[in-house]
Amino acid sequence: MKPFSKKIEQMAESETVAITTKAQALRCQGKDIISLSVGEPDFATPRNIQDAAIDAIQKGFTKYAPAAGYPSLISAIEKKFERDNKIKYQPNQIVISNGAKQSIFNTVMTLLNPGDHAVILAPFWVTYVELVKLAGAKPVIVEGLPEEGFKIPVSRIQKAITIKTKLLILNSPCNPTGAIFSKEELQKLAALIAKKNIYVISDEVYEKIIYDDAEHVSLAALGKEAYDRTITVNGVSKAYAMTGWRIGYLGAHEKIAKQITKFQAQITHHPSTISMKAAESALLGPQESIIKMRQEFDNRRKYMMQRLSQIPEILYVMPKGAFYFFSDVSKYYGRTYHGKAIKGSVDLANFFLNEMGVAVVPGIAFGAEECIRLSFATDMANLEKAMDRIEKGFKSLTINKL
Ligand code: PLP
Repeated sequence: MKPFSKKIEQMAESETVAITTKAQALRCQGKDIISLSVGEPDFATPRNIQDAAIDAIQKGFTKYAPAAGYPSLISAIEKKFERDNKIKYQPNQIVISNGAKQSIFNTVMTLLNPGDHAVILAPFWVTYVELVKLAGAKPVIVEGLPEEGFKIPVSRIQKAITIKTKLLILNSPCNPTGAIFSKEELQKLAALIAKKNIYVISDEVYEKIIYDDAEHVSLAALGKEAYDRTITVNGVSKAYAMTGWRIGYLGAHEKIAKQITKFQAQITHHPSTISMKAAESALLGPQESIIKMRQEFDNRRKYMMQRLSQIPEILYVMPKGAFYFFSDVSKYYGRTYHGKAIKGSVDLANFFLNEMGVAVVPGIAFGAEECIRLSFATDMANLEKAMDRIEKGFKSLTINKL
């Protein structure tokens, strides 16, 4: 066989997918596995959205649509951006895609040339790094620290920006850390991107899953300079429990949106028409399901925090948004289980999966080897059982005497 493309050979396997596949294989062998590795709400898609999809099929919304998506959904997104984010986008500034993931892919491919630099804030959603590499550009990683609540001061971001930097990828609320940038922090960032004249992808998919007094602020709402340079990415996956429906969207300067539409027309044309009709109902219909989901996530978040606080030597940050705890467990590295050393986050995740029956995601998947990610997108009964196993697992690791 001739070799595959360099692009595909250089692409990393997704650790999240790898752990999910292993967990499924163990389940097939009859093992009792609880998954804390999931990245999607465990609730059903609300009824009004389901009905809209059935209606769409029956009314014949089953043919090709315009490349940027149905005008009716574009209009709903326009209203959503104005209502929730205080951003005014015209219809020709909005592009709908197969999930926020494709919105980000389209943007990266539209903006970056080989040799360009893209600044990514760690811990990060690993897709960012892989997409930047796919475009032939260089990911420049800026480290976030647990003791700073995983929020990187703008002064440190500035140090990573050079003449080669074209793009910064911002994710607030953040997967995996749940960190949220405040309005003041975003204002500083807005000034920085204007000064350096760089683009920003602002990935806001966890916007609706925020807790306590946290406020979600959109970078593009902070003045014309930020508005012109920001590509605001969002989607219905997390807010409306619609991960499988594959609808994401973006708002951007019309010149950027035009090129992204040209690109998408050659790649996937547009997302599913049925899902687009469902997403319209999600954005324009009742929003109560979001409040209920958030309340349920918040109860689980508090429960998990209480359980984690009882395990010694774990450094965790209470997430302000999303549905994960990203905990520094590196004090346990070097310890052993039945004589076998736990050398890092992958070993620890394998130990929890194989010995304790809990799937967690190793921090290396997010550029933070010292951590693991625990998702609370599972019901309370599962969470209680999983936390019992996690606590037992940590206790059973012995300090290596060597
Ligand atoms: N951005 C972040 C930070 C995510 O965690 C995810 C999904 O896990 C996405 C984007 C992609 O969402 P979508 O389902 O809309 O493609």
